[in-house]
Amino acid sequence: MDSSSSPCPLDRELSSQIAALLASPSSQSIQDFHDELIRLRECHGLKLKYDKEVGKGVYANKEFKEGELILKDQMLVAAQHSSNKVDCLVCSKCFRFIGSIELQIGRKLYLQSCGLSSKRDCTYKAFSCASEEGCAEFSEDEENDIMENYNDLGSSSSNLKTHTLSEEMLKSLINGDLSLPYTKNFGLPPVIKCPGGCEEEHYCSKLCADSDWESVHSLLCTGQSSASSPAAMVKFLEHANGTNDIFILAAKMISFTILKYRKLKQLHFEDCKLHNKLGETDDSRFLMLLEAWKPISMGFKKRWWDCIALPDDVDPCNEASFRAQIRDLAFTSLQLLKDAIFDNECAPLFSLEVYGHIIGMFELNNLDLVVASPVEDYFIYIDEFPSPEKEEAEIHTRPFLDSLGDEYSVCCQGTAFFPLQSCMNHSCAPSAKAFKRDEDRDGQAVILACRPISLGEEVTISYIDEDLPYEERQAQLADYGFKCRCPKCSEEEP
Ligand SMILES: [Zn+2]
Ligand SMILES: [Zn+2]
Ligand SMILES: [Zn+2]
Repeated sequence: MDSSSSPCPLDRELSSQIAALLASPSSQSIQDFHDELIRLRECHGLKLKYDKEVGKGVYANKEFKEGELILKDQMLVAAQHSSNKVDCLVCSKCFRFIGSIELQIGRKLYLQSCGLSSKRDCTYKAFSCASEEGCAEFSEDEENDIMENYNDLGSSSSNLKTHTLSEEMLKSLINGDLSLPYTKNFGLPPVIKCPGGCEEEHYCSKLCADSDWESVHSLLCTGQSSASSPAAMVKFLEHANGTNDIFILAAKMISFTILKYRKLKQLHFEDCKLHNKLGETDDSRFLMLLEAWKPISMGFKKRWWDCIALPDDVDPCNEASFRAQIRDLAFTSLQLLKDAIFDNECAPLFSLEVYGHIIGMFELNNLDLVVASPVEDYFIYIDEFPSPEKEEAEIHTRPFLDSLGDEYSVCCQGTAFFPLQSCMNHSCAPSAKAFKRDEDRDGQAVILACRPISLGEEVTISYIDEDLPYEERQAQLADYGFKCRCPKCSEEEP
């Protein structure tokens, strides 16, 4: 699909600015940007190499042992899945669990009893194997133990059991009047409210709250201090939650760019005043927009509707109409976002062409965001107690564990774009993997060496389940737009 048939008038009116935003940055600028990221992350064992032909790649600048930490990458933007918000209360900036074990349990059971169910998102994309493993912090046997005990008690449905806990009991768990045994060993940061007054976002600290407010949330907040139109923003969010929450991530990216642009403009204005220079022009304004856009310009991207994998239930003869539908869905979302936060000086960001490329960048690069639940750790801790302490503690904890059922261990789930991790190339025999260790309790991406890596060797990860047969791997990788020629594929190629 080309942009001449686009339903978005901005695609035509602003075509030259859009082309400048979507152009590939110069080799030097790509190198400098990532060198700086590596310096900021203090992961000196890595080096980014850029080649016009083969693109970006991450290389070992030292030797790594098997299991050694290679990189902790901070996300550029991230969002918890809407469907996961009933299950876990986490900081909207760093994705740590917040409040207390009691609050986590009480809130979830209370919301469930109000009829808000958490429909699990089963459509895991790439990396889910690695990240799910990292999330499960106990062996299957232990899980079976807990589940057997749970079944022994004869409860068949977690919903039924919820009703045996009174609303009052759940409320006192939430407000801290009722505490469970040994939860002091599982202390969590306090719940800090959104400074804009919305009920949607919560934080672990004032630092996280302020930083999210300044970099992204002030435009997207639906509270009374929002910098945009809260009523229009509610409509945008409802549409995204009802269709695809990747739109929320795209909105965060656009908000990030607008707020960065306004900061640069303010600095420029002060600089001009100080040095008696001429004020800003259209050209200088666009240069500032390009600068604000820089972190996104670095990501590999295609239009979302061109790169999204054709679902199995769509007949290949209907591919064109499927892709047109996806484009129209994105356009509807974009119109709602425009109603809420349009900024004329940043108009190209509101073109369908740019919106489609931002979402496509997420589609091609995102990593599942997974943070293990302290509630899970807590119940396992109690389960591992010796008798009779275990039985004594379980008098208090058992009713809650029964009510939670097999959902007691649900982790925080979302999706995130990581600027350095996304530069790592694929191999079906990867040298590294995304894996959360016990101590990794926030949303950062953690990349570990899965075998020894020598100095100068490329650090690769697998975008798919690398244990699949050759044909299936190639089919899945085709959605990423390449044919894999890794050593494993070269060997297995028929
Ligand atoms: Zn935080
Ligand atoms: Zn807010
Ligand atoms: Zn391969």
